[in-house]
Amino acid sequence: MFDSLSDRLSGIFDKLTRRGALTDSDVSEAMREVRRALIEADVALDVVKSFTDRVKEKAVGQEVVRSVTPGQMVVKIVHDELVKTLGAEADPIDLQSVPPVPIMMVGLQGSGKTTTTAKIAKRLTERDKRKVLMASLDTRRPAAQEQLEVLGKQTGVDTLPIIKGQTPQQIATRAIQAAKLGGYDVVILDTAGRLHIDDELMRETEQVRDIAQPHETLLVADSLTGQDAVNLARTFDQRIGITGIVLTRIDGDGRGGAALSMRAVTGKPIKLLGTGEKLDGLEDFHPERVAGRILGMGDVVSLVERAAENIDQEKAQAMAKKLAKGQFDLQDLSDQFRQMQKIGGMSGVLGMLPGIGKMKKQLDAANLDDKLLKRQTAIISSMTPQERRNPKVLQASRKRRIAAGSGTTVQEVNQLLKMHRQMADMMKVVGKGKGGLAKLFGI
Ligand code: GDP
Repeated sequence: MFDSLSDRLSGIFDKLTRRGALTDSDVSEAMREVRRALIEADVALDVVKSFTDRVKEKAVGQEVVRSVTPGQMVVKIVHDELVKTLGAEADPIDLQSVPPVPIMMVGLQGSGKTTTTAKIAKRLTERDKRKVLMASLDTRRPAAQEQLEVLGKQTGVDTLPIIKGQTPQQIATRAIQAAKLGGYDVVILDTAGRLHIDDELMRETEQVRDIAQPHETLLVADSLTGQDAVNLARTFDQRIGITGIVLTRIDGDGRGGAALSMRAVTGKPIKLLGTGEKLDGLEDFHPERVAGRILGMGDVVSLVERAAENIDQEKAQAMAKKLAKGQFDLQDLSDQFRQMQKIGGMSGVLGMLPGIGKMKKQLDAANLDDKLLKRQTAIISSMTPQERRNPKVLQASRKRRIAAGSGTTVQEVNQLLKMHRQMADMMKVVGKGKGGLAKLFGI
């Protein structure tokens, strides 16, 4: 799965990672190739554009970590952006509701809706120990109801007894009642599909939705149809309102266009992947794992992650050296802020400097959260280099200029200056302690 896209991308990045140094035009050229590969993989154009723009922007501003090549850094950036495009976090089926929890399956005929219904039911029964009832509302396709009945027997999941001549709406009502009476945890409604979206299908599905009040409405879409699957999801979402997507036939999907565009275009999560005709061919959708498969460069990604951990240590040591000498200006503070934002806040950085527990507590008390960090970084950016080196020159008029330039207030500028003074004092004390910070670090 995703083999063809994966081959293309690894070709591009193999070349890039072997280079010692990278120019901006190397990165641009690689991004042009990535763009072409994604377009050929049938990824939506908007998604391709914003993806490559984000990667380029990050790659240009990126500091290169010692011990990895710039190309490897680019691979890591691409990986992280892929994960984000795919939705960042796994988003499994949600059953947190009053039982019987109704799940409504929607989609076109042939997309794998009935098979997926049975796969989900089997998994909820076997893995999650839920009591599941399945009902086919497909009165159009000959033998559709019998197909689900057969799958129910195969998987040991109950199906709603077939009563010929009932409308989908009547079957939905009966299924909900039967699920309540029978003490089921979950009831899955397999609605009728059509070859194309038509108004009648949508109206019928809307009525079923109103009767069943589904907790999850899952669109089943064939990944092999690429952007059509994405457009389908958008249409169903606008008309019916979906809570998630199941992409089927991922086992045959070399391109990955639907998987890559779905989240960004529809805003709805891919929850599950259909990975085969067999009833255990169902996987949770993990953005991280899928990005790994698409990129096929897991070793490079973990190498850069490890190296990035080291650079934080190196920076902390360099900073400690400065501190020990009593030099700590606003530029240093601003560098620290940037570093902190990267590695998860104040505690992350300060945790690396021994003997600063007390100050950490004060900072926690001052509620130094990310938003504040960004505002304070903006304040420092609005200062001249001279002001950063020597904050004593900051008189009222300069403070007003800085506040206006950074979209903050003079009061916030004063707060920052006060914090800097406190930090510098604290650093000096720690620095002068037993042999100073330098000794603590062995430098
Ligand atoms: P429905 O009309 O949407 O209910 O589609 P079905 O569930 O009847 O599936 C249509 C065909 O697709 C069947 O032959 C299934 O075995 C096949 N199918 C469903 N899901 C998958 C999948 O994830 N991978 C593969 N390879 N085949 C699938």
